[in-house]
Amino acid sequence: MTAARRRVVVIGAGPVGLCLSLALAQQDIPVTLIEALRGDNFLEQVPRAGTNHPATLEMFDRIGLYARLEPRGIIAPIFHYWDRAENRLVAAFDHRHLKDDTRFPYVLQCERIKIVEEALDMAKAHPAIDLRLATTFTRFVQNGSGIVAHVCDPAGEEDAVEGAYLVSCEGARSIVRKDLDIEFEGFTYSDLTLNIEVAYDFRRHGYAERNYISDPTEWSNLFHWKGPPDRWRVHFPLEVGEEETACRPETLQARLQAFLPTGRAFEIVGTNVYTVHQRVAKRFRLGRAILAGDAAHVNSPIGAMGMNSGVHDAFNLADKLTQVLRGEADEDVLDRYVRQRRHVAVKHTQAQTIRNKRLLAERDPQVRRKSLDELARTAEDPVRARAFLLRASLIESLREAEQIL
Ligand SMILES: Cc1cc2nc3c(=O)[nH]c(=O)nc-3n(C[C@H](O)[C@H](O)[C@H](O)COP(=O)(O)OP(=O)(O)OC[C@H]3O[C@@H](n4cnc5c(N)ncnc54)[C@H](O)[C@@H]3O)c2cc1C
Repeated sequence: MTAARRRVVVIGAGPVGLCLSLALAQQDIPVTLIEALRGDNFLEQVPRAGTNHPATLEMFDRIGLYARLEPRGIIAPIFHYWDRAENRLVAAFDHRHLKDDTRFPYVLQCERIKIVEEALDMAKAHPAIDLRLATTFTRFVQNGSGIVAHVCDPAGEEDAVEGAYLVSCEGARSIVRKDLDIEFEGFTYSDLTLNIEVAYDFRRHGYAERNYISDPTEWSNLFHWKGPPDRWRVHFPLEVGEEETACRPETLQARLQAFLPTGRAFEIVGTNVYTVHQRVAKRFRLGRAILAGDAAHVNSPIGAMGMNSGVHDAFNLADKLTQVLRGEADEDVLDRYVRQRRHVAVKHTQAQTIRNKRLLAERDPQVRRKSLDELARTAEDPVRARAFLLRASLIESLREAEQIL
């Protein structure tokens, strides 16, 4: 086969596109990776994913990425559920219950931007990856034997890249998904999420590195990121229209003081507001064009499943594309990718993240009490805690997907 007939064109050097490209390249499959950003402006992206689950760490390890990330992250075996209304720790879940299920019985708190930086360095150094930064994908055509991706290069010139398959790892606004007229089924939450980054050590108040905080009026998430400077991220719900006032310094301080009264101003190092969608593409593949990561599914960040499940897509797809391009499997195997990963997106990631938000935001006092008591009992029972953690860390979703033919 000629190089173009074996080449995979990957759009988007986010965590999913980079993992897919590295996994393919390490199997000697040539890749062209197209990314609109320049490489020196990746840091301008808003803060996003950062909790990496055990199964994801195993995959990062497979391509040599884990060793680069561990020193830049925080190993966190324990996470907490808190009841803000009563200011009490409800449940502490310990990933060490998974010691026989994974080589990594913990999450690694390591932000998306660091993952992208490290993986990008590896991609730049890999001879099988033709990395094109500052290059914007605009459209594509396909026929029975290949695809042509049209891009706008750094000089603003049109260029065409040929390959056997096109994988959209462009994120939620995927042009490929829209051009193929694939429905993005689901809904958008009516409230927004406010993210405040604070330089303050919340551990002195008993919090773990990762906390989910239930409250009938103002639920939140609280996560620790390694510096410099050391930072904590706090999420709060926000009504549409409140964005401008909510981001004023005095309003941010008041909100943080209501959350944790310290009597001293918090050092705020960043804020942003985002809309949360729960959506899954109706199809993940149409001919030679395939969707992965946020291009195929998006969900609330409560539970840290978006990037993790996207990275799981990448590795699943890399194995199957490698088999097809080496002539070891029929193209139908790509439909198995769709069956497996769409099942995970709908039955696990969507279902679990919707449940997670409902649990944190529940207003009915009796339902709240019942759910939190149940959570406490689960955390205390090693058998139930392990089952809970297998689900929460997406290991169960991978095992279930393996059974899908
Ligand atoms: C506040 C927040 C917190 C989150 N926290 C978590 C968490 O803790 N854990 C978790 O698992 N998930 C989390 N997520 C979700 C996570 O960030 C996403 O699921 C993840 O980044 C998706 O990766 P991706 O590679 O599919 O897409 P992206 O990260 O969106 O990357 C897409 C890439 O494609 C490029 N691109 C787009 N269009 C084009 C084009 N036309 N041409 C060329 N390049 C293009 C973009 O520049 C970008 O680099 C969070 C999300 C948010 C908003």
